[in-house]
Amino acid sequence: MATMEKKGIDLGIEATHPLTGKKVPVWTANFVLMDYGSGAVMSVPAHDQRDWEFAKKYGLPIKQVIEPIDNNLIVDLDKEAFTEKGSLINSGDFDDLDFDLAFKAITNELSKRGRGQVTINYRLRDWGVSRQRYWGAPIPVINCASCGPVPVPEDQLPVVLPEDVEFDGVGSPIKKLASFIETTCPCCGGPAERETDTFDTFMESSWYFARFASRNKADGMLDPEQSRYWLPVDQYIGGIEHAILHLLYSRFFHKLMRDEGLVDSDEPFTRLLCQAWCLPKPITVKTSAVARSGFHPLT
Ligand SMILES: [Zn+2]
Repeated sequence: MATMEKKGIDLGIEATHPLTGKKVPVWTANFVLMDYGSGAVMSVPAHDQRDWEFAKKYGLPIKQVIEPIDNNLIVDLDKEAFTEKGSLINSGDFDDLDFDLAFKAITNELSKRGRGQVTINYRLRDWGVSRQRYWGAPIPVINCASCGPVPVPEDQLPVVLPEDVEFDGVGSPIKKLASFIETTCPCCGGPAERETDTFDTFMESSWYFARFASRNKADGMLDPEQSRYWLPVDQYIGGIEHAILHLLYSRFFHKLMRDEGLVDSDEPFTRLLCQAWCLPKPITVKTSAVARSGFHPLT
């Protein structure tokens, strides 16, 4: 959506700038995301490339309000937006402030005038953890026509992935395995079906290091005494491809285990070393397949 052709309609109404009191035209545009903030944004055509492209197309004013601190940087607003951080110009009382000072000064002023306040905008979204794959931890849920999805009772955990399966094409073999699927509902006792999707591999890879510290624990995630002794991990080494999702999910799981009293540290790792990105050697597979499988070996 960010790269598609920009289209918009002038709504013929104006908004009042909350600090300057000047009138600002209001447009509807196809590249503003409904789920980002409130779905309404202040356009800054001189300093955002998408806004710049939109303003160019529709002949809207492009006013520079940031100038570079580094003299080697060139601003050419006829060619593109200037998107580096710098100091403010054409901004009244906020002129000459750098990014951090300007951010604080403007938010303070908005707050003082009762026009706004600072909020944290989380970009995390709900996580679809089910996969239509065979090789994974079964999701411990039973689907009943009368009761809906019902969790497998604790005394029947874990649900173990059957290994007596026959592969037939690319689909997961347990999707056709009656001995796995057919069961009874823990709520009403009627006939029901076991869930055949499995968990996303992040559900296991996010806390395996904690599990290694509790190898003798057979009836739960962790032995709290052992995990408290061994964790957090002193030195974690991994490829740069793990730098975002794996580490993010590991922290998420670690804080969950902390809240459940299974570990007593706030963070899973004390130190992180990202070494080179490992790609499998391309021998007989296509290049695109190599890049994909190398992108995240855990999935
Ligand atoms: Zn039922």
